[in-house]
Amino acid sequence: MDYKKYIKIVHDWPKEGIEFKDITPLMDNGKAFKAAVDEIVEFARDKQIDLVVGPEARGFIVGCPVSYALEVGFAPVRKEGKLPREVIKVDYGLEYGENVLTIHKDAIKPGQRVLITDDLLATGGTIEATIKLVEELGGIVVGCAFLIELSYLDGLDKLKGYDVLTLMKY
Ligand code: AMP
Repeated sequence: MDYKKYIKIVHDWPKEGIEFKDITPLMDNGKAFKAAVDEIVEFARDKQIDLVVGPEARGFIVGCPVSYALEVGFAPVRKEGKLPREVIKVDYGLEYGENVLTIHKDAIKPGQRVLITDDLLATGGTIEATIKLVEELGGIVVGCAFLIELSYLDGLDKLKGYDVLTLMKY
């Protein structure tokens, strides 16, 4: 499917020089959104996934329907101060800012096979931080899936050795 027609590019948002890829028109189209989720589910199908993990907030939008279809759980990765119980954390940089990401300490059991999802791979900082959290808890990252990859930012370099799916490239 040609998903790109459902992506709106917003220039200079949230700050100058950023070409923001808005996925809400894709989410708004039931058939296109389902097709995108189904592709990720097929990518994950034979990987014996135990858990899907996604960073806030758009990683939830992609990851939750995938976890539902695979009949496995979903664990949220959130910014500092958002998760109510004991967390582990990691610092990371992203295309337009810096942040700290956290995950509940008991979100993953050692040896669990994890699929990580997000809407977009830019510099790879967010996904790298998410992988660190998963691996620190003993999870095995068996795949990373994104709707969009910004190829010109070389985020894939941070994912060498991981099985990666991206549905659109810019
Ligand atoms: P990065 O950590 O640089 O790979 O950035 C990825 C994260 O930031 C994802 O969670 C995206 O939602 C968001 N993001 C970064 N750049 C963009 C962009 N150009 N358009 C939309 N979202 C972006």
